[in-house]
Amino acid sequence: MGKKITIAIDGPAASGKSTTAKILADKLNYIYIDTGAMYRAATLAVLDQQIDVNDEKLVIEGVENSEIELKTGNRTFLNGRDVSHEIRAPRINEVISIISSYPQVRKRMVQLQQAMAKQGGVVMDGRDIGTVVLPNADLKVFMVASLNQRAERRLKELDQRGEKISLDAVKAEIANRDKLDSSRAASPLKKASDARELDTSNLSIEDQVRIIEGWTAEIIN
Ligand code: C5P
Repeated sequence: MGKKITIAIDGPAASGKSTTAKILADKLNYIYIDTGAMYRAATLAVLDQQIDVNDEKLVIEGVENSEIELKTGNRTFLNGRDVSHEIRAPRINEVISIISSYPQVRKRMVQLQQAMAKQGGVVMDGRDIGTVVLPNADLKVFMVASLNQRAERRLKELDQRGEKISLDAVKAEIANRDKLDSSRAASPLKKASDARELDTSNLSIEDQVRIIEGWTAEIIN
């Protein structure tokens, strides 16, 4: 068994990052860190406190007053409460890009993320992992897929949750989130210059995992 490395996976919304990262981490016996879940929990904390999402100062305070934890089994906790299901609701998607654009919110999340990755043996996914959180990651992957494919995948997930929403509405939500995430000043969604791009439009989950496993093996061996 080779050394335990750090793997950063970034990409736009619904590009298949978390599903792939989770399976990969299981196979490698690594820890999986879903940074999107942390921003989602921060957003829920703000909404729960009925804070105006456009009031940057109050949002920062609201997030700083909240305890966000990722636990084994990919569970997300907010102030000791399991919010793993709640953070995937459409009302979170509607405002999350505003909250995640605030530099102080990001600073807090990045500190937590870097502390969790200290030991190595992690697969971390998000938007700024290869560029900001783990700039020295051993392997950086930037996953992309067509808007259509991503919207279809997200629609399926929402359908399984019992949320009824049209394909066009999902497309618009994803496109809007990508636009905001890519254009913000603080650590925008961007491919790191040393990241390997993986277009998943025509790949199965198994294919995606196999390709990244191959890249990992190149580095470990
Ligand atoms: O990955 P997921 O779709 O769960 O991310 C939700 C949102 O959280 C993104 O649209 C983005 O606004 C924010 N995010 C971020 N930086 C990360 C991970 C997520 O800004 N590293």
